[in-house]
Order: sequence, then C-alpha cells, then structure tokens
Amino acid sequence: MAKSPTFENAIEFAQELIRIPSPSGQEGGVAERIQSEMVSLGLRDIRTDEVGNVIGCVQGTGTAPPVLLSCHTDVVAVGDHAEWEHPPFGGDISEGFLHGRGSMDIKGPLALQTYAAAALAGRADGDVIVAHTVFEERGGLGMKHLLESGTVQPGAVVIGESTHGDICIGHRGRGEVEVVLQGLAGHASAPDRARNALDLVPEVLAAIQALAKDQPEDAVLGTSSIVATGVEVLPESRNVIPDRVTVVLDWRVLPGTNAEGMTSLVKEVVSRRLGHLPDGFGVTVSMAQERQATYTGLAHEHSVFTPGFLMDPDDSLVLAAASAVGRRTGDGPAAVRPWTFATDGGWSRGIFGIPTVGFAPGEERYAHTNRERLDVDEARWVFARYPDLILALQDELA
Ligand SMILES: [Zn+2]
Repeated sequence: MAKSPTFENAIEFAQELIRIPSPSGQEGGVAERIQSEMVSLGLRDIRTDEVGNVIGCVQGTGTAPPVLLSCHTDVVAVGDHAEWEHPPFGGDISEGFLHGRGSMDIKGPLALQTYAAAALAGRADGDVIVAHTVFEERGGLGMKHLLESGTVQPGAVVIGESTHGDICIGHRGRGEVEVVLQGLAGHASAPDRARNALDLVPEVLAAIQALAKDQPEDAVLGTSSIVATGVEVLPESRNVIPDRVTVVLDWRVLPGTNAEGMTSLVKEVVSRRLGHLPDGFGVTVSMAQERQATYTGLAHEHSVFTPGFLMDPDDSLVLAAASAVGRRTGDGPAAVRPWTFATDGGWSRGIFGIPTVGFAPGEERYAHTNRERLDVDEARWVFARYPDLILALQDELA
C-alpha cells in the first residue's frame, strides 16, 4: 500500500513507534514496523542485518556518492510511569508537542529521516540510504557492525540526534576503564596471611587524580575528563580480606583516543605510582566489558566505549550543510556546534572516517528525561529542510 511522504504521515508513524517499547536488545518490534513503513514508502533493498539494524534505500538518478541517514531503534528506560505527565508509550500530541519515550530520542527524528528519504525519490543524484541501528544507547554496536560489514558505503552520514535545528559536528567519547587489583584472600582475623587488595586503592586513586589534572583540551569540545566512579570488592563478605578489587573509571575523551590508548595510559600511571609490588599482588587494566544480546539472537562481549569525533567547523561539507539548512529565523547559515552527549557519529566519523553531521529537531535537555517531547512545529521545519541538506551534501561530495 503506497503511502505519501508527508509530514503528517511521518508524525503519525512516530506516534506508532513510540507505542512499541524498544529497550536496547529488544528492538525487534520497532524494526519490523519500520520495515513495513519502508515498504509502504517505496524504499528499495529493505532488509535487517545480522544484529538487527533496519536498512532501506532510495536510489539516486546519477552517480553522486550515497548519503546515509541514521537514527537508532533503541530507547532508554522510562522509570516510574507515574512520574510522567504524559504516558511514556502513549505517543500523545498536546499543546504542540509530541510526547513520550523516544519522541525526540529518537523515534520522531527517525520517522522524519525515513520520510525525507522517501520524499527525495527521483530527485537525488546519489542514493539516499536509511539505516536505523540497534544498541546506540549502550555504546553503538549497531553502527559499528553496519560500517564494519561494508554493506553500506556512504560518502557522508547525517545523524538524527537532537540539534534544535543546528548543525552538530562532534562530541567527546566515553569509555569505562577497570583497574583490577589482585591480592590474596584471607580471614579478617589473620591479616598477616593475606594480601589485602584494598591497600592498593589509595595509590590508584591518587594516580587517577593526577592524570585528571593533566587532560588534553580542545577549543570546540572542551577538556577531556577522567574520574573514579566506583570501587567493587570481591568476595563481598565483611569478614574476609578481599583478593579482588576493581576501581571503575569514567573517561570522557577527545576524538582520536582509542581503547588501547586509554588502557595503556592508565596502566602506566598506576604502575608508576604503585612501584614494585610485594609478592602476591597484581594489577591489570582493561576496558569494562558488557555482554550484549541482540534481538536477532547474537551475543557479543562488548567494550563499554563510544568514540568521540569532531568535524572541522570550516570543512566544506559542514559549511554546505549549514548554508543548505539555514536558520529557522531566516538569517544566514545554521549555527554549527558540538553535542554534549555521545552519538553513533563517534563510530561513523571517529573510527570509520566518514564525514558526519547531525541535524534534527529537539532540545538535548529533554533527552532521557520523563519530560521527553518533540516540538511539532520545529519538527515540521526540520522535515522541510532535510531534502536540501541531503542534496547539498551529495553536491559537495560529487
Ligand atoms: Zn539517541
């Protein structure tokens, strides 16, 4: 059944998506619904890949490189339903806002992007690929897999995370590093026979505090920051001297930092601070791992790491994007700035090197809150600007 790619239909589609809960790892229902909408809109090559990303394409009429439009299909938890003014899975529209979990992050923008691609059928020189990814909220397994697989090879990526109509060009990355201190467990009544792993904690914290004072700074993204956020002790018994203590570090890194660089630097500063350890003690440093199971049935052990990225504000693609979109007030090119939060752009640009910008309605301050909402008028304006943005990017890439 053919569907017309109008703004009104896009918002209705967004409402339906909000009504299908989709925490990370349970995106199957939403993915199926997106696929059927892609069919109705006349997209081609519609498929889901091994991890459950949904992909469709609008074929170009010429040879310009493809542009990839991307949102994610997972949403964060909703917490206590009673705390919401509008039901989190209601998809209500009232007082000019679309409400609910995912209204802004990111089912509203996902619907707009999918419809904007459909609206360009027969008008774009290059392909417009639409790929909505899984597990963005837990580090970006979906985007990583999509680009690693090589099944799409875009010349540029547009991420639909909220920008309030600005063009966003980067963000810091985030990694979780674990410093594991190994000792010898023993009965608390006989400390001499044990090696208490907790005894090493003060020196580890001091090393991290010193490292925190020596973080690089970027003119656009600000300073990298590292801080200890937890100490986990095993065994958990209060009358046992623990043989395993894990100090957890949250590190917001500048682009170009990778997991190996992070762990080797922590290893270096911690080892230097601890000096030679008596027999029975040991230290290992690694990225925190999380087991992630996709709705398609794959299980991955996954580093808790989202890379950062930054496009040069004077890059010709960024300038083309800003002038194609313009300001909603009508005066001059769109504002260009970084995001505060991390996105799948960390993978597309930070790791795979593909030029990436963000453009979407919505204000970052509503993301992940129980007041999540999307300004419908702003969404209408963004939807109207999307075709020019895609055409300008393809023009610049050609
Ligand atoms: Zn998001």
